[in-house]
Amino acid sequence: MFTDEYFMGMAFQEAQIALEKDEVPIGCVIVANNRVIAKSHNLTETLNDVTAHAEMQAITSAANYLGGKYLINCTLYVTLEPCVMCSGALSWSQISKVVIGARDEQRGFINKNLSLHPKTEIVSGVMENECSSIVKEFFKAKR
Ligand SMILES: [Zn+2]
Repeated sequence: MFTDEYFMGMAFQEAQIALEKDEVPIGCVIVANNRVIAKSHNLTETLNDVTAHAEMQAITSAANYLGGKYLINCTLYVTLEPCVMCSGALSWSQISKVVIGARDEQRGFINKNLSLHPKTEIVSGVMENECSSIVKEFFKAKR
């Protein structure tokens, strides 16, 4: 039951909440021991803050929950590939695993030849179509 698809589904629900708020629809959850310890969605418009990406909030929230700054033994599920800022933060967190829904060829960290912490496992393409479509549809509607 606790598959990557299951937790990505929860991240996708967060993206849908962002969409309802007219935010770029990106969501994420952080899981430890098959339990969601943080969930968030992009809030850059609501908070008027370019750093309010879903991942940044979830990292802070998970560290608060755990009572320590490192996210060892945690997995982040995020609907869109993290940007350079978020990949930097994830790297500092030493998170064990990052599961990505859709790739972001332009702004994602992978094409920038950046890597996360050496111990971080990266999985990509979980619920890729849904995670990609929700962002594409959002920007199509904006034009
Ligand atoms: Zn980001």
